[in-house]
Amino acid sequence: MNARNDQSPSPIRLSEYRAPAWRVERVELDFDLGIDASEVTARLRLRRDPAQQTPLRLDGEGLELLAIALDGQPLDPGSYRHGDNQLEVDGAQDGSVLETRVRLQPAANTALEGLYLSGSRETGFLLTQCEAEGFRHITFFPDRPDVLASYTVTLRADRKRFPVLLAGGNPEGAGELEDGRHWARFVDPHPKPSYLFALVAGRLEKIERDYVTADGRAVKLVMWSEANVIDRCHYAMDALERSMRWDEQAYGRNYDLDVFHVVATHDFNMGAMENKGLNIFNAKYLLADPDSTTDDEYRAVEAVVAHEYFHNWSGNRVTCRDWFQLSLKEGLTVFREQQFSADMNSPPLKRIEDVALLRRAQFPEDAGPLAHPVRPAQYSEINNFYTATVYEKGSELVRMLSGRLGTDGFRRGMDRYFEANDGRAATLEDFLGALGDANQVDLLPYLVWYAQAGTPRLKARRDYDAARREFTLTLSQHTPGTPSQPEKHALPIPVKLALFTHEGRMLPLHLDGHPRSGDTELVVVLDKAEQRFVFREIDAEPVPSLLRGFSAPVILESHDTPAELALLLRHDVDGFNRWEAGQQLAIRAYEALREGGSDAAIVAWCDALAALFADGNVDDALLAEVMTPPGEVELAEREREADPERIHAWRQELQRRLATRISAAALLQRYRTLAQATNGQLDAASQAQRRLKRRVLELISLLDAAQGQALATLQYEEAPSMTDRLAALSVLVRTDAPQAATALAHFRDRYVDNPLALDKWFNVQTQRRGAASLASVRELERDPAFTLKNPNRVNALFGAWARSNPAGFHQADGAGYRLLAERLAQLDALNPQVAARLATAFNGWRRLEPVRRAQAQAAIAALAEQAGLSRNLTEIVQSMLH
Ligand code: ZN
Repeated sequence: MNARNDQSPSPIRLSEYRAPAWRVERVELDFDLGIDASEVTARLRLRRDPAQQTPLRLDGEGLELLAIALDGQPLDPGSYRHGDNQLEVDGAQDGSVLETRVRLQPAANTALEGLYLSGSRETGFLLTQCEAEGFRHITFFPDRPDVLASYTVTLRADRKRFPVLLAGGNPEGAGELEDGRHWARFVDPHPKPSYLFALVAGRLEKIERDYVTADGRAVKLVMWSEANVIDRCHYAMDALERSMRWDEQAYGRNYDLDVFHVVATHDFNMGAMENKGLNIFNAKYLLADPDSTTDDEYRAVEAVVAHEYFHNWSGNRVTCRDWFQLSLKEGLTVFREQQFSADMNSPPLKRIEDVALLRRAQFPEDAGPLAHPVRPAQYSEINNFYTATVYEKGSELVRMLSGRLGTDGFRRGMDRYFEANDGRAATLEDFLGALGDANQVDLLPYLVWYAQAGTPRLKARRDYDAARREFTLTLSQHTPGTPSQPEKHALPIPVKLALFTHEGRMLPLHLDGHPRSGDTELVVVLDKAEQRFVFREIDAEPVPSLLRGFSAPVILESHDTPAELALLLRHDVDGFNRWEAGQQLAIRAYEALREGGSDAAIVAWCDALAALFADGNVDDALLAEVMTPPGEVELAEREREADPERIHAWRQELQRRLATRISAAALLQRYRTLAQATNGQLDAASQAQRRLKRRVLELISLLDAAQGQALATLQYEEAPSMTDRLAALSVLVRTDAPQAATALAHFRDRYVDNPLALDKWFNVQTQRRGAASLASVRELERDPAFTLKNPNRVNALFGAWARSNPAGFHQADGAGYRLLAERLAQLDALNPQVAARLATAFNGWRRLEPVRRAQAQAAIAALAEQAGLSRNLTEIVQSMLH
């Protein structure tokens, strides 16, 4: 089905981009749909670039060609050549119409790319996934995003088996055919690239809502799912409506078709897909109900619904010229989604979550063998580049630009960008150009951020001159080399800062030449290797609060004392930096614990948190976050020879110190208060209480396992929400509680018919400590509900284990590595995209201590040697080893 590595190793390079020699102006697609065999007839109206003499070549993979005609004349075999992934046709001219008919086998498609079956043969439905290069699995076409065509799509199928027929665009008729068959036609008036094509056919139920856009268009919003879960689409429908209103208000963007369809499937490689007029969602990001969805998942549903909707402008109306520009739509859309989520919920919490994700997922990527720029220079398999770097770091770059221009300037720039590029396939230069032009500034210096991989280190030195009443901040930057880029350039790094007195007051900042000199918060831009900033009229040595709101995606190295960090943790008004001061202090405390030196940092961290815990002025959710030290992955990143089991043990010890300092009695009392207030409501305060309650329960169980387990058991039994239920179950599993088995059995029984909840049952059991987790994973694989064919299930078991339980996965004897490598080979034969993504769990192997490092290397090398691996997995394991 997919290309195997023996066929196509040579990379595709940005520098070799050429405009298409042939474009398609109009497409008519006719589908005769069936589970085992579907036939696709495509009529392409072609346009030729007069400046290029290249013959007509179309992409096509795994297609059985049944008929071919040019301008109405069937072609004889001598006038076309059909290779493994290409069709070359002689005699085509500007304005010609090429007609092909092909046969596909949806039920045999386990890669979930192109046309495939979701669910069982008896009750499942057919759907498509085309990004990035799936359309070539459906028909012959120039399958590249700079070929924009208008689509007319006609679907035909048996009415009983496929009562619902959907494609992107506006409905343009439907009717009956002979033999119990029916048809439906859709016309999309907006030219689009092939990756945005979609169809869905099967037995589905719907919920509907009427929506009127700000510019007066009546739109039908329709959400579709299998009948048994349709009741769980209401939350997503509300989120969709909120997203549409928000995009009208924040960016002046209106929806542009008469219908907007959204479909849920349990069989999906990614989170969701923004197909024009017909979004398709992994059910995990669409279905929600109080009985089976956690608070975090509710927020994720809201965010992903918004993300896909926002793509209608940032991605669809303005699309990407080529896949190197992927962040043009993804980084920008993640940024828009983050703004929306911040507006709907708590801005500081959202910022904390986003930065935590960046540090957990993107920083390690940028520091490891798979490091690549936000705009990569080359790739072998584009599906391997839907990464945290393209998405999350890409969003940080847009955030820097928006900060540089200010709210109004950024909006002006975005208006210009949408207007100038509407209906076009654009580049990052177009984006920076439009933002800059609308504000008369040159943003091209920011292109270096897009071209250069690696996380910059920002160093801050400070110097106070009491006689001159001057405070000097010396900022310097250095970006460590990455595999394909040993040398790095200096970047423009915006540093938002404030200075605090030792009483916790913010000082006015007098900085010569700065337009906002005199404010208590300023942004300075470091755009050289090193630069000095002199603040005047400072009466006593201040405490700097740097990189406020995380104003640039860098690693800040400063030398604040524990007392200074504690001061910021207590007084900073920037919620993000307050949390950040706590994180930095926790890292100092962790290192003190490990090195066994002075206790100062440990005491400072514990005292500061105990005070915040006692004084009740901090929001519950923020308090829970502040009381959580950086995760094990982040701590491992700081080491050259990491031993994940010891990191886990030290981190646990650090939290035990905190729990002791707060005291068992105070924790228990807070737990009781929070437990009394327990309800299943979704408002912010209730969610915040659950978050803090979970944290407190975890701390209690560190001090007294038996007591924690008793509370968790009760919480499990009485939980009015999945959040509380799962938090309790997690404590039982992680502490190896005698009550765990009963609770797990109960959970499995209760949710056996709910795949998303059952995923949590798999996931939570991968979090047992040490070798016990390996035993659990081996046992869970044999559970009748486990299958390598379902991406969510694979990620719930192997993904959760390898990524979220380092101490369990990284067994010194290498047994964990070997198990994962074996499964990757099996999975690759079914679904190369999911296998390649899971393989990135090996990313940090070079920074393990020597024994584990050797074991990991051996397991990856053995995998690399297997014959017939996909191009996807080959690219990942090869980069990993080089
Ligand atoms: Zn996206």
